[in-house]
Amino acid sequence: MTMTSWVSSAKGDTDFPIQNLPYGVFDDGMGARMGVAIGEMILDVAKVAHGLDPALFAAPSWNAVMAAGPDIWSALRARLTDLLSDEAHKDAVAPHLIPQAGVTMQMPFTVAEYTDFYAAKNHAMNVGTMFRGPENALPANWLSIPIGYNGRASSVVVSGTPVQRPWGQIKGPDDDLPRFDTSKRFDLELEFGAIVGTPSNGMVSVAEADEMIFGYVLLNDWSARDIQAWEYHPLGPFQSKATATTISPWIVTKAALEPFRTTTPERERPLLPYLNEPAPMLYDIALEVALAPEGGEETVITRTNYNQMYYSAAQQLCHHTTSGCAMRVGDLLGSGTISGPTKDSRGSLLEISWGGKEPLTLTTGETRTFLEDGDTLTLRGAAQGDGYRIGFGECTGQVMPAPALPDWAQ
Ligand code: MN
Repeated sequence: MTMTSWVSSAKGDTDFPIQNLPYGVFDDGMGARMGVAIGEMILDVAKVAHGLDPALFAAPSWNAVMAAGPDIWSALRARLTDLLSDEAHKDAVAPHLIPQAGVTMQMPFTVAEYTDFYAAKNHAMNVGTMFRGPENALPANWLSIPIGYNGRASSVVVSGTPVQRPWGQIKGPDDDLPRFDTSKRFDLELEFGAIVGTPSNGMVSVAEADEMIFGYVLLNDWSARDIQAWEYHPLGPFQSKATATTISPWIVTKAALEPFRTTTPERERPLLPYLNEPAPMLYDIALEVALAPEGGEETVITRTNYNQMYYSAAQQLCHHTTSGCAMRVGDLLGSGTISGPTKDSRGSLLEISWGGKEPLTLTTGETRTFLEDGDTLTLRGAAQGDGYRIGFGECTGQVMPAPALPDWAQ
């Protein structure tokens, strides 16, 4: 029988049933605290974590719990599951439930470092075809290496944070010289973020890497395509990706996703042995992106699945450590844009509008090639279980006009 919670809103149609129990940081006006989502409520975790070290809940961030390691992760999850499922705890626990509707969500953890990968083959083929032509679409290394770039932890913001259109250096294919201008090809990237819970110093295997992962979030890697096209030779993306990276406020734990594990696809070229997966390490998670013009209704612009990745987060993390690169508690790994094989499953407007050539018509009647000021993007994701779903909540951000250009830059 499917387990249920005594919290009434945690039954039926909800992202946050008893099987999920994702971790966040909320502020209800009484200060930021660590919480777990259950139905439409948040449990104030520190108030019920008897028997666990209070230091784990002293700061409004999940880093201390992550650093405590997998035994504590299991103990906390078991305790929360018991408290929220067994009716006997209702009288003691119910006073520490706060409605989600009245709180502001904050960053759930302090991001130590941020790396973004490029690991969905359909995305790599689409972008490569547009930037370099179909013959050179897939980089020569792509089927062997989970490639990525080192991003900026400072760019990571929580869902709901407005994102200002960036300025940058731009040179179109027909321009003789570059100019300094606002991005006209500002875009989203639908991604999945893996959070490193335990540190490493030296090489780790794919199996060890999987054990290091604490949980996952939805991630939007905002990207200025016109800035990217001019700057990316030969060191990869730089300022085009540094404006903002939005994550969903709830960390869905690896434990909650266990029933949804799936394998990465058939290899098109054998991997070097260190990168082989010893067990399924990808997940079956349905994903979608909605775009709402300012004051208008939203249109779902893509539907895809995390199972489209060629490399799992565990493979990416393993590869990241091969150089001896140390990984820290709170490192964030972006999966890379998740595009499926069809036009309606592409994870960026660059691909949906095919470089701006095929405008997308919204339900409001407006068209889009890239993002306009005032547009709000919402990423959603969920794994469908038997009688419940493990949802990620929403990852949103509204595009704001570019800041005024300072005198010295004119
Ligand atoms: Mn990206």
